[in-house]
Amino acid sequence: MNFSTSPEQDELVGTARRFGQEHLAPFYKQREREGAFDRATLRRMGELGFFGVELPEAYGGLGLDSVTAGLVLETLCAADYNIGQLMVTVSLAGTILATHGQPHVVEPWLKGILAGETIPAIALTEPGGGSDAANLVVRAQRAGDTYVLDGEKTSTSFATQAGVAVVWARTGPPGSGARGISAFLVPLDLPGVTTSEFEDLGGRSAGRGTLHLDGVTVPADHLLGAENQGFVQVMQGFDYSRALIGLQCLAVARQSLEETWASAAERRSFGKPLTAHQGVSFPLAEAETHVHACRLLCLNTLWLKDQGLPHTAEAAMCKWWGPKLAFEVVQNCLLINGHGAYTAEMPYEQRLRDVLGLQIGDGTAQIMKLVIARSKVGRDAVT
Ligand SMILES: Cc1cc2nc3c(=O)[nH]c(=O)nc-3n(C[C@H](O)[C@H](O)[C@H](O)COP(=O)(O)OP(=O)(O)OC[C@H]3O[C@@H](n4cnc5c(N)ncnc54)[C@H](O)[C@@H]3O)c2cc1C
Repeated sequence: MNFSTSPEQDELVGTARRFGQEHLAPFYKQREREGAFDRATLRRMGELGFFGVELPEAYGGLGLDSVTAGLVLETLCAADYNIGQLMVTVSLAGTILATHGQPHVVEPWLKGILAGETIPAIALTEPGGGSDAANLVVRAQRAGDTYVLDGEKTSTSFATQAGVAVVWARTGPPGSGARGISAFLVPLDLPGVTTSEFEDLGGRSAGRGTLHLDGVTVPADHLLGAENQGFVQVMQGFDYSRALIGLQCLAVARQSLEETWASAAERRSFGKPLTAHQGVSFPLAEAETHVHACRLLCLNTLWLKDQGLPHTAEAAMCKWWGPKLAFEVVQNCLLINGHGAYTAEMPYEQRLRDVLGLQIGDGTAQIMKLVIARSKVGRDAVT
């Protein structure tokens, strides 16, 4: 067992840290106000190789492992949590396209995504409910050399900023469940695509919204994986995004802890630094312990993926624990910083609203616990 990082990882993480401090952290609040990412920053991130660290070099990635991708992600998320939402979406959509797409179709899209030119979206959730994802009703009907898509996808991160989406649709008969679903690459400038945006509590620079698909025609070679296998094959990518999401949220918790240790050591009450009161320092010490343990779980899950070993249950553990823990830690840091942290002068209130979203996005804690329980006693024993 080796927990050390390589010189190559250290260099990449160092570059990410400097980039985050200079270009991301100062504009965390501004991006929320604008409700979007500025494209020049994304292109610079593309040039530095921050998108698709783990994706093949042929598509513009760095061709490194998932652990390294996680280390870069958490470093940048310490500066701006929301950039992580985009990085996770790039990693998830990019892995799906690179693994299941036809190279001549996906290559131009992947190159644009990894260069920071094109924002991708993942369109799975529907208005009828996201947890029971295999019950989706958006249809894709085969018509000659094309598929025609109709219906509505909702809660889609980057709905109004994205240039392309991975869309899951029913190709089997109604009621065909997980075995009648296919995944498609859908360029979002096609006729019949319209979008609208929600006013979310947090994560606003990701501009979450709805994709309306009205007779959208894509060539048949835009199918990802085999027909009717889109749920079974393509959903495996979520085991990866769930571990990354854990690191994304924990990065915010770790940054908040660092800042809070410093401010609590500086500020005084009753003639002593705040940290001299065990009511302040013990909860912070407990948070350090929990965050460290959860981070190791996330890195271990990415390591399992890199070894080609099963990691579905571990990924679900990262996904329910990481966002919940991060929310609790940021909340406690906010309280220890007093009223100042309840105002928009400090980043804690935004961090709190931001990390809350991933207790829902990519699957709720209840659904993650179903996944873990099924891995222990089988699918039929847990409903
Ligand atoms: C920040 C954020 C980002 C997102 N990004 C995307 C995206 O990019 N693409 C995309 O497709 N979707 C995205 N979503 C949607 C997200 O995946 C869904 O919101 C989520 O899966 C839950 O679906 P729902 O909101 O329809 O809730 P529902 O499925 O209606 O669930 C409502 C409640 O019931 C509980 N519940 C449901 N079934 C069970 C059960 N069997 N046992 C116990 N409890 C249960 C749930 O845990 C939840 O608390 C995002 C959501 C958020 C908040």
